[in-house]
Amino acid sequence: MPKARIVVVEDEPAIRRGVSDALRLTGYDVTEAPDGVIGFAEASGNGVDLVLLDVMLPKRDGLDVLAELRRVCPLRPVILLTARGSEEDRVRGLKMGADDYVVKPFSAKELLARVEAVLRRTMKPVPKWISIEVGTAIIDLDRREVRWPTAERIELSETEAAVLKHLIENRDRAVSREELLGRVWGIGTAGLETRAVDMHVARLRAKLKDPSGSDDTPEAIVTVRALGYMAGPGLVVREGK
Ligand code: CA
Repeated sequence: MPKARIVVVEDEPAIRRGVSDALRLTGYDVTEAPDGVIGFAEASGNGVDLVLLDVMLPKRDGLDVLAELRRVCPLRPVILLTARGSEEDRVRGLKMGADDYVVKPFSAKELLARVEAVLRRTMKPVPKWISIEVGTAIIDLDRREVRWPTAERIELSETEAAVLKHLIENRDRAVSREELLGRVWGIGTAGLETRAVDMHVARLRAKLKDPSGSDDTPEAIVTVRALGYMAGPGLVVREGK
C-alpha cells in the first residue's frame, strides 16, 4: 500500500498543527490548509487519499467545500471535524457524502483510529495496467499514442491522454464533465468550460477509431446523458500485479 496523502483543512493553528503532527508521526504525508479556499484547492488536487475538513472555516464554509469537492471528486474520502453540539452540521455533512466525522475536542488516538478505518475502506492497491486496447490498436498512455497494426501511430495530446486515463481509472462508473474539468484541467467551477470537455472527448473519440476506415471498432467512450462520459466496451484493459 502506498503512503497515504492527507489534507488537513483547519483554521485554528493549534488544532491544525496538532492533527498534522500526529498524522506525520504515524507516517502519513500531510498538507495543511488554513481556510476554505486554500482547503478546496488542496483537497481537490491529484493524489489526495483523505481530507480532514473543519466545518467552521474562514473564506469558505466547510460544507460548501464538501459540496464542490463531491462534484469534482465524487469518491474522495472526507472526515469532518465538527464542534460539539453542532449535530445539524454533522447530519448535513454525512448526507452530502462525508465518510465520517469527529467531534472537537478529540484525542489524537481517536482521530487516528477514524483515519485508519476510512483509509482501510477506501484505499485499494492500484493494479498495474499491462495493456489497454481499442479494437486492434494498442493505447500507450505513457507515450501518449495509439498504435494500429498497420503501423500507423496516432499521437494523443496531454489533455486527451489525461481524460482517457481518468475515464479508465474510473471505468466502473460514469464521470461528469465537472469532474473531468476539475481533475484534468484543475478548474473548480462548472459553467461554459464544460464545452471544452466535449471538444476534447470528440477529438479523442476520432483518434480511437480505426484509421483504415473500417467501422467495426467498438465504442471506446460512451456518452452518459445529462451527466458526462464513461469508458465504453471498446476499451479493453488488462491488469496485472
Ligand atoms: Ca474552525
